[in-house]
Amino acid sequence: MNQAHSLPADKIRCDACPVMCYIAEGKVGACDRYANQHGELVRIDSLLILQAGGSEAQVVPFFNGNAATWQGDIISAGNTFVTAIGAGTTYPDYKPAPFIVSQEVDGVDMVTVVTEGIFSYCGVKVKVDTDRHLGPECAAVRAEGEQVGHVTTAEYGSQMLSIGGVRHLTGGSKKEGRVTCDILMRLCNGEAVDLCVDGGAGMVLAANQAPVINAVAEERMRVGCGSATIGMFAKQWHGLVDEVVVVDDHITGVLSEHQAGKVLGVAATGIKVKGRRSTPGRYFQVAEPGTGWGGTDIADPLTILGPFDAKLARPGLRLLMVSTTGEQFAYYVLDDDLKPIEHDLPDALRPSVERIAENCEPALATVLFMAGAGGSLRAGATENPVKLTRSVKDMLTYVSCGGAPAYVWPGGGITFMADVSAMPRNAFGYVPTPAIVAPIEFTMRREDYAALGGHMGAIVEAGEAVKKAGRRESGLSDSAWPTARQHYRWGREGDEGQ
Ligand code: SF4
Repeated sequence: MNQAHSLPADKIRCDACPVMCYIAEGKVGACDRYANQHGELVRIDSLLILQAGGSEAQVVPFFNGNAATWQGDIISAGNTFVTAIGAGTTYPDYKPAPFIVSQEVDGVDMVTVVTEGIFSYCGVKVKVDTDRHLGPECAAVRAEGEQVGHVTTAEYGSQMLSIGGVRHLTGGSKKEGRVTCDILMRLCNGEAVDLCVDGGAGMVLAANQAPVINAVAEERMRVGCGSATIGMFAKQWHGLVDEVVVVDDHITGVLSEHQAGKVLGVAATGIKVKGRRSTPGRYFQVAEPGTGWGGTDIADPLTILGPFDAKLARPGLRLLMVSTTGEQFAYYVLDDDLKPIEHDLPDALRPSVERIAENCEPALATVLFMAGAGGSLRAGATENPVKLTRSVKDMLTYVSCGGAPAYVWPGGGITFMADVSAMPRNAFGYVPTPAIVAPIEFTMRREDYAALGGHMGAIVEAGEAVKKAGRRESGLSDSAWPTARQHYRWGREGDEGQ
């Protein structure tokens, strides 16, 4: 555990991170995590214990208080997990982690190494469920004028942002590092942050909340691209309308030319769609990206159409244009000059448009924390760090982040991603180096811990750590519970190692 070094007057020195704050009596250190309480260095947020919560996937507050008021009611080892939230940090890294606890789970002696890691190599990937154009790929994402990340490759129905990372934390100005650290911590703790993209949109994002883009709350995630929408709903339009165009920034779909229309016997209509034809009924680049119809910059869908081919089109031909969320739609009938004239949407077509909207899921911003635990942090678990990495790769050690499942990337190191909304609130902190403080736990069988050169002498019974805990929360599904045997190779092979 951390030491309070005696120093001038009433100050003590915190050694939990490289900043090495001098903290006066009754004051807190620079990160607000440690305080001087009557000459003793104390971690302000108390240790958090997770208690199995059945099938509930979300972690919910169960108890909040402090060790002094907690009456110490019964803790069942099998359904209690000591998280790293509030555990504190040891520095330098070669010291054993703040808590290395053992507990028996279904007859298996398990050990969990618990620490709040200090991460300079970390960031978040934010998935923003929207068609709306947030900004060009690679464009800078800013907060308080500082670049804190960039727009990265869009995914299906979502725009993606990469925020943080070592370059913004350490490679720019002091302010860039400070603002990046602050934005990361707030995003990870579920708070809303204001961001803007160079040449793009302004937005307010919070984990698991609807994104607000240019001051408008996004409601729906699109049902699919324009081509997919044609594929899904072609049958419902058949016979009710002669042509359908699903407007989309990426792939605009045209019913009569699309394979779905061909199979249904939809006749050619002489429609001409601007943009680059990819395959029949699928067009790229019909307009510029924007916040209009289907993530394009258009407000009037007719701007993406050229004149109808008089050899195929006819007066009275019925045309539906719709966006990929069903939010925008317009119905036209060709006049004698083959010009589309807007009419009210016929009642018979309304259910098909509503069906598109119905199939759209609620739009959310989701935040995955990503960091590298393959560095010196491993020394808190073992004297031979590479053995921890190998143990993780061999599925003998399970990595969790505040109890939440962490996906560990293949390849070298322990580079992991975890959904911040699966963790208890306020699981993250910071130190002013600047770096993010994130909870991380490594769980394994006692014999596997011994095999990787673990700090066996530092192991305490889980009950000892629980006595120091001031907070409990319930949650996590059974399958996500860190000691669930399916996380381990021996559990999958049915070898409990007895
Ligand atoms: S920043 Fe926080 S952890 Fe680091 S020395 Fe100061 S009080 Fe301790």
